[in-house]
Formats: sequence, structure tokens, C-alpha cells
Amino acid sequence: MASLEGLVERMTAEEAWRSLLKFLSSGAERAFEEVQRVMCIQPHADDTDVAAGGTIAKLAREGKEVIYVTMTDDRLGTSDPEMWPEKLAQIRMKEQEEAARILGVKKLIWLNYRDGELYPSLKAREELIHLIRLYKPDMVITVDPWLSYEAHPDHRATGILAAEAVMFSPLPHAAPGDLREGVKPHQVRYIAFYWTRRPNVYVDVTDYLDLKLKAIRAHKSQFEANWPQFEQLIRAYLRLMGKRAGVRYAEAFKVLTPQYLHCNIFAEDI
Ligand code: ZN
Repeated sequence: MASLEGLVERMTAEEAWRSLLKFLSSGAERAFEEVQRVMCIQPHADDTDVAAGGTIAKLAREGKEVIYVTMTDDRLGTSDPEMWPEKLAQIRMKEQEEAARILGVKKLIWLNYRDGELYPSLKAREELIHLIRLYKPDMVITVDPWLSYEAHPDHRATGILAAEAVMFSPLPHAAPGDLREGVKPHQVRYIAFYWTRRPNVYVDVTDYLDLKLKAIRAHKSQFEANWPQFEQLIRAYLRLMGKRAGVRYAEAFKVLTPQYLHCNIFAEDI
């Protein structure tokens, strides 16, 4: 790459850093237009709908296939000591089914790890690699596990596991049970993280705000009691991201291609 070296040679270090970032980042901004099948790997029922529901509705209306993989069983999501956790898990599953129907998500997969107890494990990683190889998504959407101060283990673990699964799913000897069963390796093209402090792609969801709010509200056990305040918060956040993007309402993502997931000093800034 003599020409790139020449570019660095002619510039100050700061200018060269910015130029290389510009050179390397081409493509990510069109990721959502390019993909045909998307797998959303979420810690809990509701996470994708709250963080990315407008984008999901938009993709589904464009005829793209959206699959939700929920890592945990959501048994902890209540402040009511009388609520039976197993019953709550069932309620939350039904609520997610309704929200998915509103947004146009066709397929829901539940891995049923206990809520609040998900930590990265080889077993969970291999389950995700298997699902990626089976369903062959072009993009995985998940939570940013590197969000500063994120205390919820399910959120940190889900983002890490999803990123690891994206990295290893093309390698035939990773999760080798698949090789023996004839399940082929698969290369995901993009990984998109929501709830990120480093967004590089904004999706205009102005036309999908109502659908998103309706889908979030389907998670009654989580939001009905404080809906007016929560709706205000969602609207304000989407408007803020919209201002950044030059549209009315937007959702924000950090979109990377898999090569940024390993030994890449540009990943954070790209
Ligand atoms: Zn969550």
C-alpha cells in the first residue's frame, strides 16, 4: 500500500489519521440499504424495539427479513415482589410477540438464559454461531457492550457474544459441531451496535415513529405505568439524533464490518 504510506508521509499525524479514517469508513453508511436479512441479538424482550424499533419497522416494510434472538427469559423485569418470575417470563414473551407483529418481525428465537445471569460462555457463543450459520444474516444488530458504565451483565455479555459469533461464524473449525452436521460457515457483512456513544450511521425513522412507539407500548409490563414520561424520553432522544442527521427523527448505530472487530485501532473512531 505504497500510496497510502505516501499519503501519511505528506501529512501531519492528525491529518493522516483523519484521512485514513475517511478512506477506511466508506460503505458503512449504506449498510442498512444493502442488507436483505438482519438478525437482532438482544439481551431481553424490548431492547431492540426501544433502541432500534424504527429501523426494524423500516427494514420490514422494505421487504427485508428480520429475526429476533432474545438471550434471556426476562424474569426479573418487575418491582412487584408478588409477581411470580416464571409468569413474568411468559408475559414478556407474549408482549414481544405482539411488538414483533406490529413492526413486521417474522421470526422470534428464545435462548432462555436466566435474566440477570448471562455471562460470556463458549456454549452461548456456539449457539449464536449456529444460528448465524443457519439463518445467514447480512447484518447482526445488537447492543454496544463497550458502553461506559453499563452495569447490566446481560447487556455486556450479549454484545460481546454477538460480536464474537460474527467474528467466528465464517471459520469452519469454530463451533465444530456445525461442520459435522453439514451446517456451512457464514460471513456476516455488518454488525450494528445500538445504545452506543460512538454512532457512525443514522437511520431516518421519521415515518416509523408511531409504529415504534406502538411496539414499545406493547411491552405493557415494562412501560405502561410510566408511559407519558417514557414516550417523552424516546421522542427527545430520536429528535436529538435526528438533529445530528439532518432529519426529523433518527436512530443511531455504530456499524462495523467484521475486520474492525479484531486488532483494529481505527474501530473506535470510524
Ligand atoms: Zn435489556
